[in-house]
Amino acid sequence: MSDTTSPTPSPAQRTGTFTCLACGLVVAELAPDDSRRNHCPSCLCSRHTVDQRERGHSECGGRMTPLSIAALRTGRWALVHRCVRCGELSLHQVSTDDNQLILMRLAVRPLAEPPFPLEVFSEL
Ligand SMILES: [Zn+2]
Ligand SMILES: [Zn+2]
Repeated sequence: MSDTTSPTPSPAQRTGTFTCLACGLVVAELAPDDSRRNHCPSCLCSRHTVDQRERGHSECGGRMTPLSIAALRTGRWALVHRCVRCGELSLHQVSTDDNQLILMRLAVRPLAEPPFPLEVFSEL
């Protein structure tokens, strides 16, 4: 299994599903825009199946929770996932029907919880 999105999905990919480790939702592997889905559109959790360093299959199988948002050069968003079992980080492209509330919460979190007092700006 690889991370690359194939332009012509096979019939198996069209009908393939996986069950979300976190919320139990049965998820279609193919997103509405024909891209491969590797995380749950409802709670955005994923499963650790790809070894990011070796680019091969990972035996871990741990739950990966969304950590933050990364803006790609293509203008799309990607989710930074962290495996709760082994701590490995990975980048997954956001699908058009991903939970936008969770995406926005992840995106504004660094601004909502700054590591320094915001009052300093009023003194400038
Ligand atoms: Zn889920
Ligand atoms: Zn892992």
